[in-house]
Amino acid sequence: MDLRSTRIKNMAESATLAMAAKARELKQKGIDVIGLSLGEPDFKTPKHICEGAKEAIDEGKYFAYPPVNGYLDLREAISEKFKKENNLDYSPDQIVVSNGAKQSIANVFLALLDPGDEVIVFSPYWVSYSALVELAEGKCVFVKGGIENDFKATAEQVKAAITDKTKAVIFSSPCNPTGSVFTEEELAAIAKVLEPHPNIVVLSDEIYELINYGGKHVSIGTMPGMIERTVTINGFAKGFAMTGWRVGYIGAPLWVAKAANKIQGQLTSANCSIAQRAAYTALTTSLEPSYEMVKQYEKRRELVHGLLSEIPGLKVNNPMGAFYFFPNVSSYFGKSVGDTKINNATDLCMYLLEDAQVSVVTGDAFGDPECFRLSYAASEEELKTAISRIKDSLARLS
Ligand code: GLU
Repeated sequence: MDLRSTRIKNMAESATLAMAAKARELKQKGIDVIGLSLGEPDFKTPKHICEGAKEAIDEGKYFAYPPVNGYLDLREAISEKFKKENNLDYSPDQIVVSNGAKQSIANVFLALLDPGDEVIVFSPYWVSYSALVELAEGKCVFVKGGIENDFKATAEQVKAAITDKTKAVIFSSPCNPTGSVFTEEELAAIAKVLEPHPNIVVLSDEIYELINYGGKHVSIGTMPGMIERTVTINGFAKGFAMTGWRVGYIGAPLWVAKAANKIQGQLTSANCSIAQRAAYTALTTSLEPSYEMVKQYEKRRELVHGLLSEIPGLKVNNPMGAFYFFPNVSSYFGKSVGDTKINNATDLCMYLLEDAQVSVVTGDAFGDPECFRLSYAASEEELKTAISRIKDSLARLS
């Protein structure tokens, strides 16, 4: 008998983490898999950030429960960062530091949604958005952008999706999984459409803020009237190569921050004390190491764009941020090699894992079953080998 709750039975497993686990398993068996499935910087956390954590341990002051919403000096530093870099005014008590941006988002959905409440989710979307909306018993309403528009949903689509049940809107810019960056004009148009609906809360996921090749990052919270109902989500994983440290945060209207704090107080008590000290160091020292990493990502983007564009039948755009490509591979559907038939992107990803020994994630998990996501947070050498293997495997399909 399956004694699990309906909630867990209905919940989708994280496709990104599942694919990464599969690749890790094969690697442990000695198979030479190149993992391009996980959105994880291949750089190490900059040394001075690690030193900040070491010093905190040695000081012996950070062994007790931190405040639920995070240490005050860290929240002050985040508040300052929001002001200086994003032109967003969130006071330290409007900030909640959590166990990664993922928990930040979970806190907010649990704080906002009643059963049946609708959340407009820009699609393609990061896998956990839909799972977390559903965990909070909300309903996703997708607005979808296609490759011809750099996968960006439009203000008109948002307008058409609003109902009297709409409670929130969520999107990421730079976007996971497409790498797209919304322009100031596009964000202004979305804000305009939301203007007559002051009770709709916007969740703006800006975790890839630093990995932006197109110029200045723009936050939707800066648009007229938006800060009062915008939750800006950010964290340290991507821009500072700190995935394992698990530090994310929100700047939010006070009532949302208080509600997220209440939930976090019951779920995790607080974020790890030492990880918070590392995060504090990251925010209060030079961003130069992050800029260096971004330069590398940009070089790799050029490389990967060139290589993917050479593969027949693959439709690819040139993303302005993050470290993902999201090529459309539908021209391979219906093809086969031996006993393997490719019916969809999931079949294709499994074929690539087995045949090319390269792990990528099916677009199905991100709301676009014609695509797959490839992370280029890997060395140039790995990327060249991986894409050449993908090209060969695809060429065998007919
Ligand atoms: N956010 C990363 C990704 O999309 C890490 C894995 C996850 O949490 O989904 O690959």
